[in-house]
This record gives sequence, C-alpha cells and structure tokens, in this order.
Amino acid sequence: MRSPSGTARRLILAFAVLLAVFGVSSYFALASLRDVQGGLSRMKEREEGVRLALELASAVRDQYAHQAHTIILGNASHLPYYTEAERHVLDLAAQVRARVGAADERAWVAEIERSTAELDRIFRERILPAVLRRDEPEIMAAHARAQVVVSQIQELTARLVDRFESSMGDIQSQVRAVHQAAFRWTLFFLAGAPLLAAGIGFSIYRSVARPVARLSEGAARLAAGDLEARIAIDSPDEFGALARQFDAMTRSIKDHQERLVQSEKLAGIGRLAAGVAHEINNPLAVILGYVKILRRKSDGALAEDLGIIEDEAVRAQEIVEGLLDLSRPLAAAPEPVDLRALCDEAVARLADGGRLAGATVEVSGAGGVEGHPQKLRQVVLNLVKNGAEAAGPGGRVEVRVSQAPQGGAALEVSDSGAGLPAEAAGRLFEPFFTTKPGGTGLGLAVSLGIVQAHGGAVEVASPAGGGARFTIRLPASPPGRV
Ligand code: ADP
Repeated sequence: MRSPSGTARRLILAFAVLLAVFGVSSYFALASLRDVQGGLSRMKEREEGVRLALELASAVRDQYAHQAHTIILGNASHLPYYTEAERHVLDLAAQVRARVGAADERAWVAEIERSTAELDRIFRERILPAVLRRDEPEIMAAHARAQVVVSQIQELTARLVDRFESSMGDIQSQVRAVHQAAFRWTLFFLAGAPLLAAGIGFSIYRSVARPVARLSEGAARLAAGDLEARIAIDSPDEFGALARQFDAMTRSIKDHQERLVQSEKLAGIGRLAAGVAHEINNPLAVILGYVKILRRKSDGALAEDLGIIEDEAVRAQEIVEGLLDLSRPLAAAPEPVDLRALCDEAVARLADGGRLAGATVEVSGAGGVEGHPQKLRQVVLNLVKNGAEAAGPGGRVEVRVSQAPQGGAALEVSDSGAGLPAEAAGRLFEPFFTTKPGGTGLGLAVSLGIVQAHGGAVEVASPAGGGARFTIRLPASPPGRV
C-alpha cells in the first residue's frame, strides 16, 4: 500500500487530534461521574450506619428496661421480652460491624459487643438469681454495674454516630470538589473545542482549500490565455509540486508559443520575400551597375551623390539577400563540413571586404559536422561581423571551434565589445531588430533559422569580463539524417 501523502497525513493528524481531545474530555467526564456516584453511595452507607448506631443505642436502652422491669416485678415474667431485646441488640451490633472500616471504629464496635455480653451476663448471672432470692443488696450492686455498662455502650454508639456524621461531611466536600472540577473542565472543553476546531479548520483551509483555489485561479488565467500566470505556492507538499509543474508547463507553453510566433513570422516574411526579392533583385542589380558606371564618369558633388545612391542600393541589395536567405530551404543533401576551415574562410572573406571594423579576429580549435557549408558560412559571417562591429577598432573577436564528446560540434564567437544592448533583451533574433544606423536586423534571424534547420541551437551570454558571446551547438548531422 502506498504511504499517505503530506496533505493526507496532515488531515489524518488533524482528525486524530480532534478525536483525542474528544476522547480525553469524555473519559474525564465519565471518571468524574463515577467519582460522584461512588461518593454518593459511600454517603448512603454512612447514613445507614448512623441510623443503625442510633437504633442500637435505643435497643440497648430497651434491653436495660427489661432488666429494670424484672427488678420492679420481682419475678422472671419479663425474661422472654428481655431475651428478644438482647437478640435484637446483637443483631444490630453485627450490622454496625459490617459497616465500619477504620481500625478505631472496629475497636469501638468490638467494645460494644463485649459490653453487651457483659450486660447480659450481669442480668442472667447476678440480677435474675438475686431477684428470685430477693437479695436486695446484690440486686442494688448488680443494677449499679449494669447502669455503668449501659452508659458505656451509649457513649460508644454516640462516638460512632459522630464519626459517621463527620465522615459524611468529608465525603460531601469531596463530592462537591469533584463536581466543581468536572464543571470547570467541561466549561474549558466547551470553550476550547470550538477554538481547536477553528484552528484545525484554518490549517486545513491554508494547506488544502487555499492552494486548490490558487491552482484553479492559475488554471483559469491560463485558460484565458495569460501565459504570465504563475502560482504562488512554495510549500514542500504535493500542492507545491503541482504548482511548480504548472509554472513549468506555463513557461514551456510560452516558449513554445514564442518559437511558433517566430517561425510563423519567418515563414511569413519568407513567403513575402520569395515573391518580392526576385522582382527587386534584378532592377537593383541594374541600378547598381549603372550607378557604378556613372560614378566613374563623373566627379565632384555629383560623384558624391552617386556614391550615396550606390551605398543605399548596396544596402537594399543586402536586405533582399537577407530576405532570400530567410526564405530559402536548405539544399537537399548535407555534406561533411570542416568548421575550422569554414571559419578561417569566412574571416578571410570579411577581412578582404574590409568588414572587420578594425578588430582582430582569432580562430582556434577544430570540429566538423554534416551540414550545408554555404549556409553555415553565412552564420559565421554574420556572427563574426557583429562581433567585430561591437568590438570596434583595436578590439578582439575570438572564434573557438570544438568537437562535442557525445557527437556534434560547438562554435563560440565572443568579442571585447560593450556587450548586448539592454533593448535587445528578448528581441535579438527578431527579423529587422537592429540598433545600428545602417543595420538590416536580419543577420541573427537568418543565422537562427539556419542553425535550427540543422537541428542545432544558439545560446547568447554576456560574460562577466564584458562583450557578448554567441554559442552555436550543432548535432553530428541535420535532423532526418542520422
Ligand atoms: P544587424 O547587425 O544588421 O543590426 P543582427 O540581426 O545581426 O542585425 O543583429 C541585431 C542586433 O543585435 C544588433 O543591431 C545589435 O544590437 C545586437 N548584436 C548582435 N551581435 C552583437 C554583439 N556581438 N555585441 C553586441 N550587440 C550585438
């Protein structure tokens, strides 16, 4: 069985806490009830003890009354009543004995029983024979002793009654204390339970309901097309993981969409370029040809004006070339390309054309892939030209070629220029984005198109030491050719 998730564990814990509090309070209430009930039944016992002790005192007086009657009547006619009264006393004494607990109480009852036996002995062995003999002095002496014994028994029963009554008071105050404690705890639980439930409810809201609401809000924003939607949940549980996955998904949709827009843009421009470029290229070539001839034939201000026309026509031709590059598919069959040789050649061509802006270019390393040499040369030309323009006179451009250990190759072009301009962020590869007065803004867009058509990728960085660094990563061969 799978172990419960973090949220499930929290829910189980919350319910377990509630259940534990409920259990403890119920146990406490039941225990208090049991204590109160125990106290009440002990009280009843003691009450019964008081009643029995009082009845015993009265029974002893009754027994003594029958002895007195025998003396007054001077015969044994009261003997059966006396015997009955004596049995009653013994019976009550036994009942009292069954209800006492403490050692001194037990000693008092034993004393009562001893005294009762002595009272009986005095009557049967001294008073009754003396009455029948009419021995007055003995009757007086035995009667006096019997009176002493009776008062002893009375005194002991009074002591027992006192003890029973005082312990009843104790039990009563114990019961009252238990009752009050139970009342206070019940009040505490009654007030604490809603607070605890509110706390647990709030924690469930925070850990379950709120993240769910945020996820649903983020999904709604995404559904409405907002690709900037992010879900602010950084908890380490599954909601946090879900939010991170959601954010990653949104980012990847956004990237994908941007790439789609870019390639749609390129495709649109390509289609337009394909239609227009052919038409414009020829007239431009004718214009350039005539302007060059005219310039040679003229001098002074006219030659300068014709020079401007020539420069602008060259620029227009570059734009048309760039547009054609964007639209032209790769040649059908790729071939092995020596990237090092290709870089050397591109740099030499730029140097020959005086397009290195006074910067020095250094090429190092080696590597090769399968691809389209003319197109890849175009990429190197664009990147080195950009680097040289950024580095300026006296600046440096480094081109490093390397073979990737797992196949494919990398080409790194870095320069000592001022680095990427702030406004270029996110727009470098946009067609027609340029910060140069005479720029076309097509070089990087064309390069990216070529690299992607080779199945490669372009990375841009602004290294800590300054300048810009463009890295081209190419697979061993273009997609479709493994
Ligand atoms: P262009 O060179 O005609 O402007 P690109 O597409 O080649 O067109 O370059 C677009 C823009 O990218 C440049 O205008 C420049 O702002 C920026 N850029 C390209 N390469 C570099 C670099 N090496 N250093 C600084 N900025 C660069």
